[in-house]
Formats: sequence, C-alpha cells, structure tokens
Amino acid sequence: MTAPAIPAASASERYEAVIGIEVHCQLRTASKMFCSCSTAYDGAAPNSHTCPVCLGLPGALPTINRVAVEGVLATGIAIGATTPVATRWDRKNYFYPDLPKGYQISQYDLPLAAHGRLAIDTSSGSFVVGIQRAHLEEDTAKLIHGTDSAGRKISLIDFNRSGAPLMEIVTEPSIRTAEQARRYAEELQLLLRTIGVSDADMERGQMRVEANVSLRPRGTEPFGTRVEVKNMNSFRSVERAIAFEIERQAVALDAGEILTQDTRGWDDTRGVTYVMRSKEDSHDYRYFPEPDLPPLRVAPAWIEAVRAALPELPAARRSRYTDELGLSAYDAGVIVAEPDLVVAFEAIRTAGPELPAKAITNFVIGDYGRALKESSERTPEGLVGRANAAELADLLRRVGNAELSRTNAREVLAEHLSGGGTVGKIVEAKGFRQISDRGALGSAVDAVLAANPAAIADHRAGKPSLGFLVGQVMKATRGQANAELVGTLLQERLDGPAAVAEAVADPDGVAHPDRTDRQ
Ligand code: ADP
Ligand code: ZN
Ligand code: MG
Repeated sequence: MTAPAIPAASASERYEAVIGIEVHCQLRTASKMFCSCSTAYDGAAPNSHTCPVCLGLPGALPTINRVAVEGVLATGIAIGATTPVATRWDRKNYFYPDLPKGYQISQYDLPLAAHGRLAIDTSSGSFVVGIQRAHLEEDTAKLIHGTDSAGRKISLIDFNRSGAPLMEIVTEPSIRTAEQARRYAEELQLLLRTIGVSDADMERGQMRVEANVSLRPRGTEPFGTRVEVKNMNSFRSVERAIAFEIERQAVALDAGEILTQDTRGWDDTRGVTYVMRSKEDSHDYRYFPEPDLPPLRVAPAWIEAVRAALPELPAARRSRYTDELGLSAYDAGVIVAEPDLVVAFEAIRTAGPELPAKAITNFVIGDYGRALKESSERTPEGLVGRANAAELADLLRRVGNAELSRTNAREVLAEHLSGGGTVGKIVEAKGFRQISDRGALGSAVDAVLAANPAAIADHRAGKPSLGFLVGQVMKATRGQANAELVGTLLQERLDGPAAVAEAVADPDGVAHPDRTDRQ
C-alpha cells in the first residue's frame, strides 16, 4: 500500500474549522450554590468546608444562592442574552466519586440566559461570537490521586469545592480560527471580571475552557465529527491546542481516516492533544426536573435591578475612550484590558481634568503600568489605592509644564508609591528641576562628548550610539536634563543643524529617547 499523497495546499486552505467553546467559571459568592458553606476554601484543610447538603447526605435539602443567580443574570445582560420568566433546575445523572449525590443539579432546557453574543477584535478584524446559553450548576469535589506510604495507589477526595456555584457558558459553533477562540476567552474573562461575577483565573481553575473542534471541506455546509479538547490552563494553550487539533484532523481526513467523537486532553509540554476517552462511553445523563427545588421565577424588576447595577462594559468603555477622549484603538484596548489601569486612568482624569488624555494614557500604560507589574503589594484598586490620584495628577502636571523630566518623574513615582510622601515634597527634597537651558545642557553635552570618543566614532560609522550618549548626559545631570533637548544638542554637535530638523520630523527617532508614545 502506498501512503496517500499530501495535497500541497495547507490545512487552513482546504478545510474550514468549526469551533464551539464551553467555559465553566466559578462565581464570586460568599457561600456555595445550595448550602451555606463558605466558598473561601482555598488553602483550607481538606473537607473543612462541608455540610450534609454538599456532601450529598440523604435527606439534605438544597436552597438557592441568590447571588449566584444574579451572577448569571448579569452575565446574560452583558452578552445581550434573554432570560425566560421561569427557569428550572434539572438533575444531570452520572456516577463518579467526585459527585456524592450521583447527580449534579444543573439547568437543561431552560437556562438562565440564552441567545447572547460577544464582539471580539482579532488580528484580521472584529468578529461576533454567538453564545447559545449560560446556565448555573454546582461544582464537583476534587480528586487527588497519589500513592500511600506503602507505595499503593490511592485516591483522596476533598469536598471543599463540592457544591460551589459554577456558571457554564456555551457558544454557537460560530468560531472559525484558533485565534478567534483565544480572543473570545480573553474577552469573556475581561467581561466577567468587569461585572464582578468571577475572578476567572485560568491557572487557578476559576475559569476552565473546553473547545469543540471539527473540520469541513471549504465551501460545504454539514459539520464534521467534533472532538472536545480539555485541560488548557492558559489563553496561549487554548490557541495552541486548537491549532494543533485543526492540523491533526486535516492530516487524518486527508489520509482517509474516519474521525471519532473523542474527548482529548492538551499536553502543554509536548504541544499535542491525546485521547482521554472516546464518546462511545459517553453517558446518557437522563436529565429530569429537580424535585427538591421549585422552579425559579425571574421577575422583570429583578433583571432591571441587576442591569442598573452593572458597570460600564469593556466594549462601551473602549468606544468612549476612542470616540470621546480621542485615544487610539490600541491605547484604549490596552487600558480597558487591565481593570487596574482603568481605575488609575479614571482617577487621574478626575483629579486633573485639564491634563491631556494622551498624557494620562502614556503615563498609565507606561510608568504606572510598569510600577504596577513590579509591585508585590497591590490593593484591589491597583496602586491608586496607595498612590493618591491627586498626587499622580500633580506629577503629570509637572512633567507637562516641563518642570520635571520624565526620568526624574519615574523616580518620584517610585518614591511616592513606597510611602515617600507627596510629589511636591519628594521633588523638593531631591532638588529635581528639569534643566531645559541650552547653555547649561550644552556644557553637560560637551563634557559627555569629550569623555566618549568611541561613541562618537560609532556614530560617525553609522552605528546607533546617540541613545547611549543621551543616557550619559541624563546620568551626569541626575536625570534632570530635558532629554529631547539633549538629543537635539547632541545632533547639532555631531551632524549639524540640518540633521536635527530631520530627526525632529521623525518622532520615533533617537532624538526623543524619553518618549513612550505608541501612536
Ligand atoms: P455537549 O454538551 O455534549 O458538549 P453541546 O451540543 O452542548 O454538546 O455542544 C457543545 C459545544 O460544541 C457547543 O459550543 C457547540 O457550539 C459545539 N459544537 C457542536 N457541534 C459542533 C461541531 N460539529 N463542531 C464543532 N463544535 C461543535
Ligand atoms: Zn455545604
Ligand atoms: Mg461538551
């Protein structure tokens, strides 16, 4: 037998991927879904957060967690879904040791939210992902497999997570690429965090993403056999796993294989998916209405109250930033993607309404964002909780007035964040005052040039050394020099005034090493 020839065109040209994403996320509630056990079990002793209800003991009766229901209602509103006037709970029956009752209380044909959508931006444009449903269910216990002291295989069970509220959000099979799938998951996480219903941390299992992937020849309608991929612990692995799966299925289909409806796991280290189980042994869940709970009526007034409490959603905020404040789509995207940056941006704008939005943007994305990343002790509001927004506005005002160099401003920020007092006090104590005087800077520039003949030679030979020389002048002036002016003076001396005019026309050139503008 000869192997079938591999067609020349790539998989993505010959086949179209059909992808649907299922996301499970833990809702941010104080107590579990159907009992009053606390959900703050992270790091707690195993089985210390349990009661007859979440242990599934006979005769225990569930009660509904209102906050969890409101979390799904809020999500439904945020994705433009509809909520039926009455929903219901159903039993999903299956046997597994992590499910003590032998069934999971879930929602089957009447989910709390249905027919929603989420718009995303990708490298090839924007795209709307259709969302089938969002429903509420309870989490399972945690199984821990290991060996005992005698080397025997044992499985331990921790019921702390058992009965924690879980929201499942299922998309239509409307996603077509691995990148779209990753972007959808990212945008969904941002949305859930913005409306405050979930911390949605993938690494901590608060948000679990599963992907259903099938292929069909381009230009054809019917869906192919789908494979479900699990165990992806980061956005990057979501994209990698789907890309791998698309390629794997294309090769298999080209080889004439009949695909089976498997559940596969993603091995992040090897970069492959592997069979976990085949759908042949998938269960018939025998859903039926939960007899221990009444149907749940959702009054329109309740939905309106939840809607009224929603904050501005990411998409609306991005449009406001670009349309009303004149931010670039890129800058708006960067700020909105990081709630801490949003808090800082808004707080500084309130404290300094006269400051240009662009200056606040550059600061928030640049120096502030870096300080935030480096800070180990951030407050729930980012650094602004510690750094008085009025002080940050004061800092930006001084930079804007050319009183303070950007380099010194960075130092003042660090000092202020570590409890060094007001910006005014720090500036005074350090004696910072930006040097913008051509004469004073000229002598500093001349001294640096005299001390660095090698850098001058490099520059003459066309090697980039201007940034280095600017850095030396900044060092010599304790960061107080106006870096733009230093660049200009250096160029005047090295290349003559004509070159300066040219460099000024190129804002990204080395004449402005202190800029962080991204547009
Ligand atoms: P299950 O509950 O068995 O996982 P669902 O019908 O709820 O099945 O579908 C789960 C996900 O699979 C949904 O996101 C759906 O859009 C997606 N899906 C359904 N059919 C296909 C297919 N042929 N290819 C890819 N995804 C699919
Ligand atoms: Zn309990
Ligand atoms: Mg599924």
